[in-house]
Amino acid sequence: MATVTKPKLAKPEVRQTLCFIGGEWVPSQSGKTFATINPATEEPIAQVAEGDAADIDAAAQAARNALEQGEWAKMDARDRGKLMHKLCDLLEAEAEELAALESLDNGKPVADAQAADVPLTIDCLRYYAGFADKIQGDTIPVRGNYFTYTRKEPVGVAGQIIPWNFPMLMVAWKWGPALAAGCTIVMKPAEQTPLTCLRMARLAQKAGIPDGVINVVPGYGPTAGASLVRHPGVDKIAFTGEHLTAQTIMKDASQTLKRLTFELGGKSPNIIFDDADLDAAIQGAHFGLYFNQGQCCCAGSRVFVQESIYDQFVERICELNRHRKLGNPLDPQTQQGPQVDQNQFDKIMKYIDLGKSEGAACLSGGERFGDRGYFVKPTVFANVTDQMAIAKDEIFGPVMSVLKFKDMQEVIQRGNNTFYGLAAAVWTKDIAKAHQMAAALKAGTVWVNCYDVFDAAAPFGGFKMSGMGRELGEKGLDAYLETKTVTVAL
Ligand code: ADP
Repeated sequence: MATVTKPKLAKPEVRQTLCFIGGEWVPSQSGKTFATINPATEEPIAQVAEGDAADIDAAAQAARNALEQGEWAKMDARDRGKLMHKLCDLLEAEAEELAALESLDNGKPVADAQAADVPLTIDCLRYYAGFADKIQGDTIPVRGNYFTYTRKEPVGVAGQIIPWNFPMLMVAWKWGPALAAGCTIVMKPAEQTPLTCLRMARLAQKAGIPDGVINVVPGYGPTAGASLVRHPGVDKIAFTGEHLTAQTIMKDASQTLKRLTFELGGKSPNIIFDDADLDAAIQGAHFGLYFNQGQCCCAGSRVFVQESIYDQFVERICELNRHRKLGNPLDPQTQQGPQVDQNQFDKIMKYIDLGKSEGAACLSGGERFGDRGYFVKPTVFANVTDQMAIAKDEIFGPVMSVLKFKDMQEVIQRGNNTFYGLAAAVWTKDIAKAHQMAAALKAGTVWVNCYDVFDAAAPFGGFKMSGMGRELGEKGLDAYLETKTVTVAL
């Protein structure tokens, strides 16, 4: 029987490459630009304005004006929600092109961008659009003849710094609660992937979100990013990225005591007991690590497998890897694209070499794929021990470390033996064991018999050095609100 192959998508058009400040598309004040690279070909896609302190300052000023005067400041909460829904309508209308643009700039398979990034982006923005008119304070029974109530007010100008692994989705996680709360925004997208964020800013403008409410300044972290963190006119920083960058941001933000929320890295334990549904666990572990080329902060990169099923598990993961289709991310059949850039590629190859030299058994992959683009073959290391670098450090690539364990107490202790605490997963048919594990694991999210299940309504964030505060859900709004207590003598 003939199989029908979907045609390859045409290369998407790049329409926005400038800074978006106060509703205007402007070059950086220095005139500098930088290239955003296609990671599948290593060739530049476009030159993008390289913002710096002066552009951040102009954006912060525009955001301040929009916050304190003009339409947004006076708008009914319900109308804010309507504008957010309108933005979602425009995103839906361009879904296919946005998925292709994301795939081009980031390297992720277009099928993944269509199935995950774009619909989750829209779902998150719609979820928060529904909150815009449901943010309310309390009335408080105080002593004496007073009436006391609280108001929930926007925290102000929100500085938002995002990474490159889910460029559009990170925009939604940041804009959603900020807009619902009535804040205004200065966003710095990651230097590797500015294109979909700029396109979303254009669609926000088309949707009628007033000028100055959303400002986007592309540029590098130590220049544009650090200027945003230090700017006295910015009230809050929401950051997603590495914990080392968060430490710098914390120092830089201390001068102005900004509110901070961080969503950082992980080395998440994915724990498979011998009483699990093994087919589901293998699929879940494979997806939980290799999805998005392993470039997920919550990747299940320490896979603990109980000893009686260990060899079978390793063999079957290797078998799945043998059939994995790597290649052009814009081909709808592709399952794995390139890593985002040369730095990430080099870092992953360094860890693969370390794994080999530390004595782990590399049973799949372990090398580059092809000779153009930042492709790394899906890699499996067996016989990994806890003190090896590949078991301790976040690799952020398609490298699975499989560790053997005997019993529950042992795996709880080993699973928690990390300064990270973003996510964990447990596979078992024993419901009591599942709940005991969920309680014992020190992580912001625990998946039971599933992996990477996200929902705009479910809070996400890290214990320990994986983060501060929570994003998503009703809790995700807290980071964008101040509580004001009003007391009236009666
Ligand atoms: P990665 O190494 O995965 O790129 P980073 O934490 O370095 O992760 O980057 C995440 C985001 O943080 C990017 O937008 C980057 O430009 C920004 N960034 C990097 N360094 C700084 C800094 N010193 N101050 C503010 N933002 C920064």
